[in-house]
Amino acid sequence: MSKLKITENTDLFKCPICSSKMNIVDEKSLICLNNHCFDLARSGYVNFLTRPVKTDYDKAMFNSRSTISKYGFFDPMIDAITDIIGNVIHNPSSGRMVVLDAGCGEGSHLHQITEKLYSTTRNKFTGAGMDISKEGIQIASRQYPDCIWCVGDLTNSPFMDKKFDIILNILSPSNYAEFNRLITSDGVLIKVVPGRDYLKELRKLLYHQTDKQSFSNEKVLKHFNDNFNLIDSRQIYYNKTMDADILAHLIKMTPLSWSAAEKEINRAVSSINSITVDFTVLYGNRKTS
Ligand SMILES: [Zn+2]
Repeated sequence: MSKLKITENTDLFKCPICSSKMNIVDEKSLICLNNHCFDLARSGYVNFLTRPVKTDYDKAMFNSRSTISKYGFFDPMIDAITDIIGNVIHNPSSGRMVVLDAGCGEGSHLHQITEKLYSTTRNKFTGAGMDISKEGIQIASRQYPDCIWCVGDLTNSPFMDKKFDIILNILSPSNYAEFNRLITSDGVLIKVVPGRDYLKELRKLLYHQTDKQSFSNEKVLKHFNDNFNLIDSRQIYYNKTMDADILAHLIKMTPLSWSAAEKEINRAVSSINSITVDFTVLYGNRKTS
């Protein structure tokens, strides 16, 4: 089904080597006009990296994030994003609305958002997820065949200009030049960043340096505003009850814990029973030039 999605939407893709248009051949390869060829994996994703990239995120970390997602840890954030999209998209004119998740990891956010959008609006949203981590995309393509998945580099993404009505950038680095290139003229960029209190219970136990305990989002906000017109921002703040099992997964998926000693991690697992979640959701549209 993921392969079918790619076959139906080949117009989205461009060759990351020579930028020319791509065609699908025998439902198994995307080939550009200059014969650069990218094969579809068995589970239906395409790897567009021209050389392997090593990331800090491994398979176990993505599996933990998948478990945390299914537990409902991110649900209020997913609801907020779906609500924002429902509000900004008044009448989808083309029939096809395409949502890109730039830095989608193991794909659960994009899957949940497109599914929820369909159930609330009855409009079909085509989801396309890209991540630089092959481990993340492998999990995404196996679990969620309803979306398009590819391994790609956000500094040189394998997509044509102005194809995406919505670009999501959730807890992941931005590339505003690419967002500007990829988004439709009336498209909306939605960026989620952690707020001051995000995972504060873990930060307190696992982080002792005060400079790492507190941080400000002013720079992120300014950077967003320099590149896009900020329409609005929303703070999403809630507490989630955690048992030891689910907390262990949360710790595994969280970079801040990677350098923590096992003793401290065990202490965290036994002493924390709820976690504060604090996100800021920024959304805006293209600056008219
Ligand atoms: Zn090419």
